[in-house]
Amino acid sequence: IRDITVDATSTEHAEQIVNAVKAVSHIKVLNVYDRTFNMHRGGKICIQGKMPLETQADLAMAYTPGVGRICEAIAEDPEKVYSLTIKSNTVAIVTDGSAVLGLGNLGAEAALPVMEGKAMLFKKFAGIDAFPICLANQSTDQIVETVKNIAPVFGGVNLEDISAPRCFEIEERLRRELDIPVFHDDQHGTAIVSLAALINALKLVHKSMEDVRIVINGAGAAGIAIARLLRKAGAKTILMCDSQGILSKSRADLTSQKKEFAVDAAGSLAGAMSGADVFLGVSVPHVLTPQMVLSMAKKPIVMAMANPIPEIQPELVEHDVAVMATGRSDYPNQINNVLAFPGIFRGALDCRAQEITTNMYLEAANAIASLIHASDLDREHIIPSVFDERVVTAVAGAVQRAARQDGVARR
Ligand code: NAP
Ligand code: MG
Repeated sequence: IRDITVDATSTEHAEQIVNAVKAVSHIKVLNVYDRTFNMHRGGKICIQGKMPLETQADLAMAYTPGVGRICEAIAEDPEKVYSLTIKSNTVAIVTDGSAVLGLGNLGAEAALPVMEGKAMLFKKFAGIDAFPICLANQSTDQIVETVKNIAPVFGGVNLEDISAPRCFEIEERLRRELDIPVFHDDQHGTAIVSLAALINALKLVHKSMEDVRIVINGAGAAGIAIARLLRKAGAKTILMCDSQGILSKSRADLTSQKKEFAVDAAGSLAGAMSGADVFLGVSVPHVLTPQMVLSMAKKPIVMAMANPIPEIQPELVEHDVAVMATGRSDYPNQINNVLAFPGIFRGALDCRAQEITTNMYLEAANAIASLIHASDLDREHIIPSVFDERVVTAVAGAVQRAARQDGVARR
């Protein structure tokens, strides 16, 4: 046998397979390749010109002296930067590497492969040219200053993998100080897709947003943004937990964002879960037990979104829940931000929105949810697939309409 290909799920798993093959006496392993590493060699994206540069005349137009007249035109009328440069279709993906995926504070260089991947998604799903910007600095003031300084090139800013609670202040300040849309995807992308899934899950169990008791486990970037958006969508009863249990008014360790959701009750996740209609997990693996799920109200909805390992393994409670969703592609109902951010930016760039408002988030969530028609809605189909081509158009359209209503569209 010259080549065999195996699919490993982790580095450890790959080593196990290789060792098992090596242990077979008449097999000699000559080489081991990792397709994922191979795919990353040299990086995943590049910059390409849009027109040929074949002749002196081409050069003289694309670059000097011709380009000088374009510069003067923009200097005279700065709005022309939108029509005469890449700005109108270009997004900065900005990170400081402080919360890379679920892997922690890996720093700017280690964050780059993620941001390259994100740029590929922007291009594939929305035709947007996004550029990875990984900052070698984790100070809030300096990140804000740097993003403001590079903003002239970009039509929008996607903040990515910046740790909580700094991410809240960084986004708030940039939104205030820049006239282009700023969107922290780990917060709002997650919140929009979670809301879309919840809207449809509630339809299935015939419960209303106003009446259900919702437990959100995890009060970081994702948890806080989800809680804020669910409130705007009408949710009245939200209990949030972090690593120390329920966000209780009696606690002295709460950040200002956590205080927004502090309640009189106190205790642990187990206590919060009793009688709950909905569990939304954006925390860590394996913290939700089958006993806790059994203590929920009738027809419970469980969205266990910790990545890559959910708060509870779906198999453990598949017969006890009405609806189960995770962040994973190998189970039904994948909650994935790629359903939101491409369309959000497509819509915001197309109407040249000054900012992305809460209304735009809500309408994006409604648009995603409404792509599942009543006849197709079942416990394994509460949300469209990430490859559903209707999603980006539906979200972009909804975002533009909401931008016009809110008076933030400039076109
Ligand atoms: P984050 O900002 O670091 O927040 C994590 C939160 O989880 C913190 O509030 C932390 O509590 C809490 N936590 C830690 N251990 C806990 C425990 N044992 N019980 C309850 N809460 C606990 O991270 P994030 O960006 O919000 O993301 C959180 C998780 O959601 C990650 O696993 C991420 O992969 C996942 N996620 C999934 C999706 C998706 O599926 N589409 C999208 C976004 C995020 P303290 O505040 O006390 O430290
Ligand atoms: Mg992220």
